[in-house]
Order: sequence, then C-alpha cells, then structure tokens
Amino acid sequence: MKKHAIIPIFIPHQGCPNDCVFCNQKTITARQPDVTGDEIRNTIETWLSTLTNRPGIKTIEIAFFGGSFTGLPMERQSAYLEIAQDYKQRGLVHKIHLSTRPDYIDQDILDNLKAYGTDTIELGVQSFDEKVLKASGRGHDSRCVYEAASLIQSYGFELGIQLMIGLPEDSLKKCLYSARETVKIGPSIARLYPTIVIEGTHLMDMYKKGLYAPLTTEEAVSTTKEMHKILMDAGINIIRVGLKSSDLIRDGGQISGHTFHPAFRQLVEGEIAREKMTQLVEETTLSRRQPGSSASPCWDSYESQEVTFFSSPGWFSCMIGHKACNKEYMRQAYPELTIRYQTHDLPDGSIAIAVADNPHLVVK
Ligand code: SF4
Repeated sequence: MKKHAIIPIFIPHQGCPNDCVFCNQKTITARQPDVTGDEIRNTIETWLSTLTNRPGIKTIEIAFFGGSFTGLPMERQSAYLEIAQDYKQRGLVHKIHLSTRPDYIDQDILDNLKAYGTDTIELGVQSFDEKVLKASGRGHDSRCVYEAASLIQSYGFELGIQLMIGLPEDSLKKCLYSARETVKIGPSIARLYPTIVIEGTHLMDMYKKGLYAPLTTEEAVSTTKEMHKILMDAGINIIRVGLKSSDLIRDGGQISGHTFHPAFRQLVEGEIAREKMTQLVEETTLSRRQPGSSASPCWDSYESQEVTFFSSPGWFSCMIGHKACNKEYMRQAYPELTIRYQTHDLPDGSIAIAVADNPHLVVK
C-alpha cells in the first residue's frame, strides 16, 4: 500500500536562458501560457478528492516539477508557494517539494522558500564531471553543485539530487564518480534518469549528425544498476529510476527509442536482485555441490535440492524480474534446484535465501 502520495504540479520554465542539450522545454514552453493560481488550486483539489479517503496514505506532498522553480521571478515563486502553504497550514498536505538548478540557489531564494514552509529541494545535478556538464550545455560547474547542496542542507531543507546517465562525454567511470560524490554530499533522496533523445533538442541534432551515440538499453541498465547500488548502500532513498511514458507525453516529447523503457526501474532493480540471488545460491549451496569446500557450513547437512528466495512485497516483482526473466534465468542456471519465491518482512532491496526447511535465512 502506498504510504506517500505526490500531487505533481508542472511549472514550465518560460524564458529559461539555459541550453541543456537534452531539454525540449524551450520548444514546449514557447507555446504554453503561465500556470495560474486557479489552475494550481484546481489540480490540488482534484488530487485531494481522490487521495484523502484512500487507506494507507500517511503523507501527501505538493511537488512543483518542470523547469527550474527558483529561476522564476521571486514574486511568481511566492505566489505559487503561498497556495501550497495554505494547504499545508490547513493540514490537507504535509510537505512542499520543488526541483531546481544548482546555480539558482542563494540565500535570498532559500530565505523565501523557508518562509513559505518548503520542505524538500531537489537539484538537477546530472553529473559531477566537468566535461559532461560542459558538453551537455548545463551552464554551471560542479563547484556550484557542492555550494548549493551545502547551503540547502545548512537551512535544514531535505535535499534531493538528480543524476543522468549517458550524457555526451559520459562514461561508466564518470557515472560511478557522480554516484560516489552524491553519497559524499549525503542527500536523503535521489533520482536516476538515463538520457533520452527527444525531438526538438540539441541532442537529437547531435544524434542525427553522428555526434552523439545514445546508450543501448542494456548499457543504460548496467550503468544505472551500479549507481543504484552505490546510492542504496549509502541509505539514500532512490525515488525514481527512469522516466515514465506519461512524463514524456505530458512534456510533449517524442522520443527516438534507445534508452527509454517503460519498465526501466524494474530492469535495473531486477538485475540487482538477480546478482544477489546468484551470490546467495553460490554461497549457500556450494558446499553441497563441492564436498570439502569452505562455503557456509549451515547448509552442509542438507541434501535437499529445494531453495526459497525471499524479498519484501515491494521488491517481489524485481526478484521475479521483468516478464519473469529472473525466474527463467535461475531455472536454467541451476537446473538441480527446485526454487520457490516468497515475500518476507525484509527491507526493500534485500534478498534472502532459505535451503529446504531450515528456517535460518541468509540475507544480502
Ligand atoms: S533542463 Fe532546465 S535549465 Fe536546462 S534548458 Fe531545460 S528548463 Fe532550462
């Protein structure tokens, strides 16, 4: 059951002076009027009417997404925030959340966000590598990211960091570096987005001219998986992996295929689960298959070929894999085993194994 609900309010950033190669906001927002206060209230009311009676929801958050919220004129930021604050003060929502760029953060901006009760600020960082930032047309360097993050944390806001995978000049090594730098900063939430080539962007032009080669889905999954592990091991809550098709439709984007996959998160987390399952099988059944090996002694006395894997209910579909690919993989890799899959009271991301009837679980 979902405990946390988000009311998304899309604020296109008209007049954005930046030129990020992957962004189609310039072409989209050119034909969109400003979002009015009435529209924001209507959106909130519509969502609240469906959320308030739904069981299991503990917190409701108003989230301003789209361009860079703090790049808007201060009066407009205040007008939008005043509406959100009104709902928060009446106890109808619990948090106010927004996303912005690292170079649109300073003390005046943060003082204003604080005054209106903002809780969470997400920074679109994309990469910590200078060459990637430059080649992607971000218009800021990595020092700006460290400074903005530190200032946000000093005000006591919850910090989020968004990273992209597969930008121009990017590599696996640089992506892992970005994930490790993110851990050093210590945000509480993160998002991982593989780069998508969208019509109407510089990136599409670069792609058509042969100046940019997008990652394949397999490459994007493999790199994102390694970043995901670094962030998850550090206790960072990864609230999004990959874009949803509704994001692209809402933004008016047309994609050229490549790394977009509607179940991208499941592909990434399914691979993490499969790695853990393979390690668990190898460690816990090795001694039965190779007499005299030094593997975990707790399974030595078991001759049964039955094993059961466990995950949290939230990770069960990852354990099974997209279109049951993990089940099929395990069946083919370990034909001597009868494998069952069950849910258990484990944290999301953990996989456990039990051999035969032994109630003792080994957890990864
Ligand atoms: S990603 Fe944000 S900052 Fe960059 S061009 Fe688009 S709207 Fe502007």
